[in-house]
Amino acid sequence: QYIMGIETSCDETAVAIIKNGREIIANVVASQIDSHKRFGGVVPEIASRHHVEQLTIVLEEALTKANLEFKDMDAIAVTEGPGLVGALLIGVNAAKALAFAHGIPLVPVHHIAGHIYANRIVAEMKFPLLALVVSGGHTELVYMKEHGHFEVIGETRDDAAGEAYDKVARTLNLPYPGGPHIDKMAQAGEATIPLPRAWLEEDSYDFSFSGLKSAVINTVHNAEQRGEKLIPENLAASFQESVIDVLVTKTLKATREYNVKQVLLAGGVAANKGLRTRLEEAFSTEKVELVIPPLYLCTDNAAMIAAAGSIFYDKGQRAKLDLNANPGLDITIHNQ
Ligand code: ATP
Ligand code: MG
Ligand code: FE
Repeated sequence: QYIMGIETSCDETAVAIIKNGREIIANVVASQIDSHKRFGGVVPEIASRHHVEQLTIVLEEALTKANLEFKDMDAIAVTEGPGLVGALLIGVNAAKALAFAHGIPLVPVHHIAGHIYANRIVAEMKFPLLALVVSGGHTELVYMKEHGHFEVIGETRDDAAGEAYDKVARTLNLPYPGGPHIDKMAQAGEATIPLPRAWLEEDSYDFSFSGLKSAVINTVHNAEQRGEKLIPENLAASFQESVIDVLVTKTLKATREYNVKQVLLAGGVAANKGLRTRLEEAFSTEKVELVIPPLYLCTDNAAMIAAAGSIFYDKGQRAKLDLNANPGLDITIHNQ
């Protein structure tokens, strides 16, 4: 079985071909980071235009690498949402045109389901499982009792973890996206600066990062006003420790309460070295299996969309040719 995945929800134009749901045959990602860098973030109009320019090139590259043709594809899986509407539309319309022209079934995929299913490429999923999703727009704990079942047991009430990383990075004058830069600086620093941790209510699996972000900004401004010199590496380390403390503690608590067989890490922030290390330490004494995907499967890619698409294809899910991009698509009502 060959599934083609198409992903254009944000600033990566990506096409992948996956064999039997788990084996990567081609995985092409064209990043637009350089075009958005000078604006300090993703500019939606620019993102859409880049997707238009890049998608045919990326499609051809994927087929060439795989040495396959459209007629070899069993299905085309495409990100339906969430994301930037103009960016999503490019992928959705291309997928519809290709599905129609070549008579291939079309399978819609939720972007975050894709992030979670990136794990399927490196490990067999064992249910029930818990996924810690940490990305540019999402921070949530997702409980899955079987394929296609997504129950969000906790989510951020304000900023996503990645968003907090990017905003803190901007305060420290680091280029976009800031996550990887903060990560590197944190490794060179020490967490000596006291910063808050938002635990919220005792029984809540929700997150909140805007207070932490503001505390970092205030710390920088106060130091500037007093003419004190802050060690940016120490601030990065302190911020990162605060984020990781909360993520790891809540994930561990949910793992025990829900008695899951497996814990999956997903999303762009899953590339964070500090988070990966701390999770591994925390779970080394637990009975549950922890899966952490390689870096290229954490940030946006189409292999994850194809991996999820393969499961939904097997379940018989098909989109009609009136499929529309849905920027606010809900994971709990999707792909069931
Ligand atoms: P979403 O998946 O929620 O729709 P997105 O697709 O824009 O959002 P991803 O591509 O999954 O987000 O992740 C991008 C985010 O990951 C950015 O905020 C980026 O700063 C962050 N990130 C990437 N690498 C690291 C790292 N090493 N440490 C921390 N954050 C990182
Ligand atoms: Mg991106
Ligand atoms: Fe993403």
